[in-house]
Amino acid sequence: MKVYKFGGASIRDIERIKQMAVITRSTSSGKTLIVISAMGKTTNALEKVAEAFYDKRREEAITLFNTIKEQHLTIARELLIKEYPQAAEHLSGFFTEIEWLLHDNPVQEYDYYYDQVVCIGEMLSSAIISAYFNQEGIMNKWVDVRDILRTNDTFREAVIDWDISLQRTADTLKPLFGETDIVITQGFIGSTDENESTTLGREGSDYTAAVFANMLGAESITLWKDVAGVMSADPREFPEAVLLKELTYQEMTEIAYNGAKIIHPKTIKPLQDKNIPMYVKCFLDHSLPGTIIKNNN
Ligand code: ADP
Ligand code: ASP
Ligand code: MG
Repeated sequence: MKVYKFGGASIRDIERIKQMAVITRSTSSGKTLIVISAMGKTTNALEKVAEAFYDKRREEAITLFNTIKEQHLTIARELLIKEYPQAAEHLSGFFTEIEWLLHDNPVQEYDYYYDQVVCIGEMLSSAIISAYFNQEGIMNKWVDVRDILRTNDTFREAVIDWDISLQRTADTLKPLFGETDIVITQGFIGSTDENESTTLGREGSDYTAAVFANMLGAESITLWKDVAGVMSADPREFPEAVLLKELTYQEMTEIAYNGAKIIHPKTIKPLQDKNIPMYVKCFLDHSLPGTIIKNNN
C-alpha cells in the first residue's frame, strides 16, 4: 500500500489534472490511497465566502460562492464526457449543502461556519478527479473522508480521534481496496461525532496523508509538489536553493517547524512512529529524484 498526496498547485487546472493522471498511471503500482487538496486557491476563496456570510453580507457570500461553483463546473465539463452527468449530480449535492447554509443567519461561532464552508473545496476537487480517473480507465473508488476521520470539535484546528479513525479505516476504507487498486479521498478535513465537518488547520492535507499512511501501515508516502523536492530554501525566493536529496525525520521536522512552507509540520510524526519513508517529488517532472525523508539507518 502506498499513499499519494496531490496539493492545490498540482491540480489547479485541467492541464495539471491530466498530468496527475499521467503520474498516477506511470508511477503507482498496487494499492494506492490518493489524498487530494482543494484546487489552486479555492480554500482562500471559500474563506471569503465564510467571512461574508458571517458578516451578514449574504448577497456577496452567494456571489462569491457562485464563482467557485462555476469554476468547478467548467473544469468538470471540460474534463468529463461520459462521467459528466453522474459527476454533476455529485457536485450539485455539495453545492446545495453550502447554498442552504448561506441562506440561514449565523447563530453559531465563526469557526464552525468556516469549517462547514471551507471543507467543500476538497469535496469538489476529489469528486471531479475521481470521475475523470474512472473515465480514463484509472479505476478508483471515491470516499468521503468525513466518514473515516473522526475529530473533536475544535473547529479550524480539529484533533483526530485516533482510536475511532483507526477502527473506521479498518472497517470502511480498507475493504474498498478489495474492489479497486486506487481509492481517492480528501485531505485537510474530518468530522465530529455529530457529523459536523471540521478542518485540521491550513495546509493540513500533508498531515491527512501521513495519518493514513500510519493507519494503513503504508510502505511509503509521496507528496507531489510543484518543486524539485525539499530545497535548502524556498526556491521562489532564493533561486540558488539546492535540492536536499535525503533528510532524516528529525531534519525534516526542524525545517518544517522553522517555517519552511513545504510540508505541514505535523506530517512527520505519524510517519516516524511507523518508520514509513516519505518522498517529496516534482509534479512537473516525475522523473526527477526528489527528496527522501527517512531514518538515517
Ligand atoms: P501543496 O501544493 O502540496 O500544498 P505547497 O504549496 O504547500 O504545496 O508547498 C510547495 C511550496 O513550498 C513550493 O511552491 C515552494 O514555493 C514552497 N517552499 C517553501 N520552502 C521550501 C523549501 N525549503 N523547499 C521547497 N519548496 C519550498
Ligand atoms: N486546501 C487546504 C489549504 O489550502 C489544505 C491543503 O491544501 O493542504 O489549506
Ligand atoms: Mg500545502
